[in-house]
Amino acid sequence: MAAQRIGIAGAGVLGRLLAFTLSRAGHAVQVFDPASGPGPRADSGLRAAGWTAAGMLSPVAELERAGAEVFALGLRSCVLWPQIVQGLNQPVDLRMQGSLLLAHRGDAGAAQRVVGLLQAKADAPYQPQPLSLDALRELEPAIQGPALAWLLPCEGQIHPWQALQALAAQGAEQGVQWHWNRSVTRVDAGELLVGAIHPERHTFDHVFDVRGVGAKPALPVRGVRGEVFWLHAPGVPLHRPVRLLHPRHSVYLVPRPDDVIVVGASEIESEDRSPVSLRSTLELLSAAHSAIPALAEARVVHTETNLRPALPDNLPALRHAPGLTVINGLFRHGWLIAPALVEQALHELSL
Ligand SMILES: Cc1cc2nc3c(=O)[nH]c(=O)nc-3n(C[C@H](O)[C@H](O)[C@H](O)COP(=O)(O)OP(=O)(O)OC[C@H]3O[C@@H](n4cnc5c(N)ncnc54)[C@H](O)[C@@H]3O)c2cc1C
Repeated sequence: MAAQRIGIAGAGVLGRLLAFTLSRAGHAVQVFDPASGPGPRADSGLRAAGWTAAGMLSPVAELERAGAEVFALGLRSCVLWPQIVQGLNQPVDLRMQGSLLLAHRGDAGAAQRVVGLLQAKADAPYQPQPLSLDALRELEPAIQGPALAWLLPCEGQIHPWQALQALAAQGAEQGVQWHWNRSVTRVDAGELLVGAIHPERHTFDHVFDVRGVGAKPALPVRGVRGEVFWLHAPGVPLHRPVRLLHPRHSVYLVPRPDDVIVVGASEIESEDRSPVSLRSTLELLSAAHSAIPALAEARVVHTETNLRPALPDNLPALRHAPGLTVINGLFRHGWLIAPALVEQALHELSL
């Protein structure tokens, strides 16, 4: 197809993946976002959820609450992410070494219920594989508390900060025009209205609305609060994401380079972006410590709160109209499903 002029509202995971892919295909791409720049410290009060995410790529574990569509998109994205990362000029920590489900003996009932659900919903090659304690110690010697463990071999993780920055840098090299400090106030077919006081009209052959929670009120999207903790834990090795199956709260730990372990995440029906609560601190960090006792001396170096963009049915939505595509509702699995959704959208548009 001849080169198209493309406008994108929103530079989160979706906006950056779209810009990277479309510019690589030779299209002229412009992206508008209220953030002050492409890096993690740029802020606008609407900080992309993608910065805060743990970056787990968990098609199977997400089946506890998601359905077949998210599972299929997730499996496809696990194939696409390595190809995307290979096309970037900056390094991105992407690990596809599986993930672990863990449970304490006293929580065996709740854990078996979840594992049974995943076994019923996932096709045979992707189902949780029970691990003996010896096998667990071999994979992750730091895990000492839980007595039950399962390996999810097809899962992995990506480093969101590295990926978001690398996608922006690569897009710029491919000719993407990034317009920072620019809020899109209205999206119409082939048109973006930018700015509130003296709005500018920008016209394109096609526009994408990927503003996440910022798409309100055009979409019935809501923010679901999530809190995460970054621990600095030198000498505590962790090689893959782990989830602790617990009857009351769901807790995960995700290793990052430089001895950092991200512990997350609360899921609260609130659009409150204020700092982490005492209750989440106690619950998440106690659970993390119960799985890896050596974390006792870890330092809490960073905490973060953000909003996951969710639609009323908690499912992702991809809708086309002439000159306009809307993608939203990636909820708790944006990193997991964004590459496959972008691939699907561009295929449907023949772009
Ligand atoms: C605590 C937490 C943990 C998570 N963990 C994971 C995980 O482990 N794995 C996983 O797959 N997913 C995870 N997620 C979910 C994932 O981060 C989101 O699903 C994903 O970021 C959604 O991508 P998006 O591009 O739709 O929205 P966002 O990443 O929120 O980006 C939206 C962009 O639109 C911009 N914008 C807003 N308003 C406007 C406007 N008016 N004009 C122009 N631009 C605008 C914003 O500035 C932002 O840059 C987590 C989320 C949270 C909060």
